[in-house]
Amino acid sequence: MSHSVQRLRLVIRGAVQGVGFRPFVYRLATELGLRSWVLNSVQGVFIELEGEPPTLQRFVKRLYVEKPPRASIQSMEQSVLEPVGYTGFEIRHSEHTGEKTTLILPDLATCPDCVREIFDPTNRRYRYPFTNCTNCGPRYSIIEPLPYDHPNTTMKAFNMCARCREEYENPLDRRFHAQPNACPECGPHLELWNEQGGVLAQHDTALRRAAEAIREGHIVAIKGLGGFHLVADARNEQAVSTLRERKRREEKPFALMYPSLHLVRVHCRVNEAEERVLVSPESPIVLLRREQDDVAPSVAPNNLFLGVMLPYTPLHHLLMHELGFPIVATSGNQSDEPICTDEHEALQRLAGIADLFLVHNRPIARHVDDSVVRVLMGRELLLRRARGYAPLPVLVKEPLPPLLGVGAHLKNTVALSIGRQVFISQHIGDLETPQALQAFRRVITDVKALWEHQPQAVACDLHPDYLSTQTAYQMGYSVVPIQHHAAHVLSCMAENEVEPPVLGISWDGTGYGTDGTVWGGEFLLVTTASFERFAHLRPFRLPGGDRAVKEPRRSALGVLYELLGERALEVVGHLFTDSERRLLLHMLRQGIHSPVTTSAGRLFDAVASLVHGRQVVNDEGQAAMELEFLAHRVRSDEAYPFALLDGCPYVLDWSPTVQAILEDVRSGVEPAQIAVRFHNTLVEMMVAVARRAGLERVALSGGCFQNAYLTERAVRRLSEAGFRPCWHQRVPPNDGGIALGQVVGAGWFYTNASHESRG
Ligand code: ZN
Ligand code: ZN
Ligand code: FE
Repeated sequence: MSHSVQRLRLVIRGAVQGVGFRPFVYRLATELGLRSWVLNSVQGVFIELEGEPPTLQRFVKRLYVEKPPRASIQSMEQSVLEPVGYTGFEIRHSEHTGEKTTLILPDLATCPDCVREIFDPTNRRYRYPFTNCTNCGPRYSIIEPLPYDHPNTTMKAFNMCARCREEYENPLDRRFHAQPNACPECGPHLELWNEQGGVLAQHDTALRRAAEAIREGHIVAIKGLGGFHLVADARNEQAVSTLRERKRREEKPFALMYPSLHLVRVHCRVNEAEERVLVSPESPIVLLRREQDDVAPSVAPNNLFLGVMLPYTPLHHLLMHELGFPIVATSGNQSDEPICTDEHEALQRLAGIADLFLVHNRPIARHVDDSVVRVLMGRELLLRRARGYAPLPVLVKEPLPPLLGVGAHLKNTVALSIGRQVFISQHIGDLETPQALQAFRRVITDVKALWEHQPQAVACDLHPDYLSTQTAYQMGYSVVPIQHHAAHVLSCMAENEVEPPVLGISWDGTGYGTDGTVWGGEFLLVTTASFERFAHLRPFRLPGGDRAVKEPRRSALGVLYELLGERALEVVGHLFTDSERRLLLHMLRQGIHSPVTTSAGRLFDAVASLVHGRQVVNDEGQAAMELEFLAHRVRSDEAYPFALLDGCPYVLDWSPTVQAILEDVRSGVEPAQIAVRFHNTLVEMMVAVARRAGLERVALSGGCFQNAYLTERAVRRLSEAGFRPCWHQRVPPNDGGIALGQVVGAGWFYTNASHESRG
């Protein structure tokens, strides 16, 4: 990639005010020849820098290492934006960023000072699993909103002892005003429970016995920061496959916690940016390319990547130190339910899954899952935004009225705008189970209470059947439905601060279109306050509708039926039983239970089915993911033919592509070759449409852009063709980003409406 000038925005929270931080930033920026400004506000210190990417990264590195001794960085968010042409260094004065809002920090991973203390036998917090200070520890997961008062924390049940109180009141102490400050004498403690909740051990013995049980191959439920983990020895195939069976989770990869960065490096490929994310205060799960690991096959079957995190609480540090090997640390829930947070509830919900329960008596105010990050082109790409990130706001350019976005159906999050800030909730999950729906409603109540704002309107998806949509209409506010793919594009534009007009490429599995059909391979022209469907993939029928999500062979049949009619069965007929064939053909002929779709996700599934015989999957996107893994294996710039058909909207015809793929399959071309050519073709389709649209700005959003090969290549090819593509960083490209897009879309609607009424 060429080293053109970029603008880097850093939002830093922590003890950075009044400790010589701004002069330090000035010196460092000047020394590196970076043009910039810095601004203090209640929401943190904002720094913007312009320069070449390597210099910007040097700045970030040195900022951590050389910062003034009294300054400490609790959290630092980075986003890369379009340069605006700063000329020097400037200290800006607190601008009015809209209304004052309470600053609620996310939960922060244990800082190095606290880690040192818990491993120091002379320290009074030696081996104390709830050690924390102003720079680290629980925040969002323990804050309780109280009406007409400042927020309280779930630590209110614990009275600080004299020594903790002294630290808390001493402005020179690292624990000055650290709300959850505690020690072995006055703070929470551990217990090890059996399946009935009987206490087997307490305090350090509980931890050591839990470690022992894990070493012996047992499954232990551990109450952590934002909820329970289910933990097992990651090297022990028996333990891991038992966990899979009990959790009823068939193939979706398990996240791992490693004892050290060193061991992560032995097992996986780790670049500089990935390392920075792994050890950051956010400490998310990072998807890393596997190299030479010794984890059990059942951890991440058929997966090129491992989801890896490092210990982020003292409890985890002590446990991992005891074990010295990687553990599976998957969310404590049954299949798709939200993560469990209460130990008594855990006994019921995790009954039959966990053998033992390592619990503590610090209540968790709200569930916060582990975040998931993938590093793409040197930048973070959040796939799941929760611990470490939520509930930090995304700053938008223009102030918005208070609006609530309730998200879509899968990977749900909600968002609330106040002035220029949009607060995005933690990941809630798929609204498939009563528990998930309950959690969704709880988070809505919670978000309104935390920021003490009633929304002026509620934005939701256009899909009438989504439970989130139905909830929106039951809330008693006015409702603004926003089309799914438009919301994807708006969220991408918002976090990149990109103004319309923009060509949005919005590709995912499914979304309700304005014509009532299933969209998913969309090119939207977004102008102020409106969007137009500029182009889409050629539609095909999905026999059996939603069932196709878990059966790529159905997508294959639908695609081939569009192409070959009933002769499709000559190609894929063998994938079905006689009765299935009859039924599916009947559906396709009559057009019943076979919705028309332009879904890029389903096109991926169809090709995956044809290329590597993935016929049935357990999770949406799994077949597509495996196709991506194949594409990573070979290097090629070859692409298949396709056609762009004139019309309004334009139609991208994939039939020459699929025809060529069938020929390649027939003549025995390597699956990896076909996969890479298919990916390349999709990117050339994007370039072709972008040329037709003729807009410089192109925004890439939707679940398909979790695919690193597709996204990187699209960015490269679009840039080469003279476009300026932007993609997601801090907000997920999948449906986790929809709530932000809805709020922005509703905001536009309101701004426009008020303009109209004025004019
Ligand atoms: Zn600390
Ligand atoms: Zn104490
Ligand atoms: Fe989507």
